[in-house]
Amino acid sequence: MDALPIAVTVVSVAIAVAVAELIALARERRTARAAGTAKDEEVADLRRRLEASEVERDSESTILASMEEGVLLFGPDGHTRLANQAAELHLGGRPSSIDALLPLGLQRIVRRAAEDRATIVTEAETGAPSRVLRGFAAPTEEGSVVLVIRDITETRRLDQVRRDFVANASHELKTPAASIQAAAETILTAAGENPSVIPRFAAQLEREAARLSRIVSDLLDLSRLESGSALDESVALDAIVRDEGERFEEPAAEAGVGLSVRAGGIPRVRGSSRDLALLVRNLVDNAIRYTRPGGQVEVDLTADDGEVVLAIVDTGFGIPSRDLPRIFERFYRVDRARSRETGGTGLGLSIVKHVAENHGGRVVVTSELGQGTRFEVRLPASG
Ligand code: ADP
Repeated sequence: MDALPIAVTVVSVAIAVAVAELIALARERRTARAAGTAKDEEVADLRRRLEASEVERDSESTILASMEEGVLLFGPDGHTRLANQAAELHLGGRPSSIDALLPLGLQRIVRRAAEDRATIVTEAETGAPSRVLRGFAAPTEEGSVVLVIRDITETRRLDQVRRDFVANASHELKTPAASIQAAAETILTAAGENPSVIPRFAAQLEREAARLSRIVSDLLDLSRLESGSALDESVALDAIVRDEGERFEEPAAEAGVGLSVRAGGIPRVRGSSRDLALLVRNLVDNAIRYTRPGGQVEVDLTADDGEVVLAIVDTGFGIPSRDLPRIFERFYRVDRARSRETGGTGLGLSIVKHVAENHGGRVVVTSELGQGTRFEVRLPASG
């Protein structure tokens, strides 16, 4: 367990134990009243302690109610004495006793904590869609058990995303690295035996090295964007769109794709001109690369209700609807071969999404297979 969850859990347990002690104190008061034997002084003392503990109890219940961790207290008879809101949320309701506690993994550790007088931790899956709960059960001195529950579904998902990313990135880098090695070896051998093949392998070496460098450069951009964009400039997005349009005139002509750019007279955007240029570049590059010769790409920048709207529309291959939800994932490609052939890294749209979100904006894509695709980026105007 990480240090922070342990600290939080220890605090949770301490609070729950304190509440359990209050319950015991209240019982002591009832017993004293019933017996009628307590001396006046003792009664006064007890009242003072109770008043002090009521103040404490108020703040404790406020803390319990505001906690992200679920806290439950089961009495020695197995009945639920206390459950905060988070516990009800994590468990989908308040169990009346240990017997009614689900998932079973949690029930088991509460029983073992009571029997073995030991603190036990477990992780249990529950519900649909499935969630992972980490349970921490600890016995109290008077035979109750405190259960603290934390929802670790998101932490688990992020761990998985990170693992997949490292595996994918290594794989993507391995392919051009292996090609470079093979080309270099061939050139070395050919230098003595067959020099005429050298230019061909030198060209392969250059191509693969350029690909490697593009992947590394996109990875560096992504990792920088994950920590946010510097929003310290008042950016004229129309100028950026026009510049990027000019930069792509030649590649579009080479690909036989018509490119038209309309951008002018729109409000400025607060943000990073470098990152916004990256966003425009990736979308225009994709639109050209995924459009057949004879097709058309239109880039349109307009203002709409306090927002700046960048629309990039192509008459290209389109994207199957089943792939649409995934195209912003890192390294996700619909047509792997086409992406590679045209110099894609599989990271462009992930960069686009990060830049848009860093600027408080969003990206919407609509596409029809064989007809074309429209990417629309909406960013808040700064006035
Ligand atoms: P890549 O470097 O492979 O282009 P991206 O992240 O930019 O990676 O895009 C992810 C995938 O989305 C691409 O591989 C491609 O299959 C698809 N795609 C992106 N833009 C378009 C477009 N304008 N038309 C058709 N498919 C597109």
